[in-house]
Amino acid sequence: AASDHNPRNTATRGWALHQAAAEVIPGGVNSATRYVGHPYAFGGGDGAYVVDLDGNRYLDYHAAFGAILLGHNSPVVDDPVRAAVGALDLFGLGVTELEVELATRVTEAIPSAEMMIATMSGSEATAQAVRLARAATGRQLLVKFQGGFHGWHDAVARNVISRPELAYGRDPLSAGILDSVLESTLIAEFNDLDSVKALFEQYPDRIAGVIMEPIPHNVGALVPTQEFVDGLRALTADHGALLIFDEVITGFRHALGGYQEVCGVQPDLTTFGKGMANGYPIGGLAGPRSLMERFDGQKGDVLLAGTFNGYALGATAAIATIDHLRSNPDFYTRTHALGARMRSGLEGIVSELDLQATVAGFGGVFSLYFTAGPIKGYRDLMRNDDQAYATFHRRMTDAGFLMIPMSLKRNHISGSHTEEDVDRTLDAARDVLASMK
Ligand code: PLP
Repeated sequence: AASDHNPRNTATRGWALHQAAAEVIPGGVNSATRYVGHPYAFGGGDGAYVVDLDGNRYLDYHAAFGAILLGHNSPVVDDPVRAAVGALDLFGLGVTELEVELATRVTEAIPSAEMMIATMSGSEATAQAVRLARAATGRQLLVKFQGGFHGWHDAVARNVISRPELAYGRDPLSAGILDSVLESTLIAEFNDLDSVKALFEQYPDRIAGVIMEPIPHNVGALVPTQEFVDGLRALTADHGALLIFDEVITGFRHALGGYQEVCGVQPDLTTFGKGMANGYPIGGLAGPRSLMERFDGQKGDVLLAGTFNGYALGATAAIATIDHLRSNPDFYTRTHALGARMRSGLEGIVSELDLQATVAGFGGVFSLYFTAGPIKGYRDLMRNDDQAYATFHRRMTDAGFLMIPMSLKRNHISGSHTEEDVDRTLDAARDVLASMK
């Protein structure tokens, strides 16, 4: 049932925990985007639902920023992990059967992958991708897109959702980044090939690679035109730079082979994380043997290190998730159909109520922008009415539907959501949007 939970109510266990957390954890959370305006504290999850410390159930579209792909506490993944806890240990020498199984699964699934390294997070995977691109090309500069997020490390931690006066300019996400690193990352506009061409012209023979989320889900869902992805592939190849697809969100979610399978473009390098292990920590970087062998400690020149890389529980969870997706291709037909149902339902409501809003998405992912379309690139998103989104988000939460609190993000339909869930969400969204008129 829809909850009556109100995160602004201070007489709750969640509020008390938040107060206690703020004493010992800066800001009370271990990742900055876990606190946006109101405290939340969850105690459990089951399938498409999460339950807060006060016992309120929410239909969950936040899905831990997309790390939950099959559903919360899915036995498909948790059972083998539970069995592995007793059977596996950490050695720090040699390789385990699990690591070979995992790399085999990933290289079989991903069109451009011949070899894979395992990391503990998506940020580590993109850090290694950038380093490898620099080593392989002997060049220093990196191109990323305004709005793209690739983790917290210095090369990429800039120009995600920027204040308007900082968009496309110097907008570090953090203090403490070396100026020289900030200056080595150039910013382009998504779905605008000319903006990338201009950088290659301005910095001839100096760009090591272009890193992109094939669909920038960190600003909702900017779906690339075919011309754009084809153009980027040709442009990077012509200039001797690497094309890096950061499939930390799109990988395994939109297709078993990631968005590269959908768009038919083979990047040089691909990064993974999040949903690939349904909530257990793991990341990965894959590419052709010729590039990946630079990580070979005997004959390569790029340092690969990490005490927990290939860690047994993450590897077990990733293998179980990938095996499930491989033997249940209806995961994709189902989540894509539910995503389409959600988007067309929302579009109907937007036009019925005559709202200045645009529905976007792909597969099981959907976003509601509070600005009129068409939305092609980040520039179009700068008109978004963040206040309207905050109101929408708050009222949906109050009604028991949990979405990502930041405007310009996205929501996720997992393998556990049903048609009935989608229809209930649409009914609630209609009431909330009508109340905002
Ligand atoms: N790349 C993308 C596209 C992401 O969305 C994220 C996380 O939000 C990352 C990389 C970083 O992954 P992690 O948080 O596991 O370090």
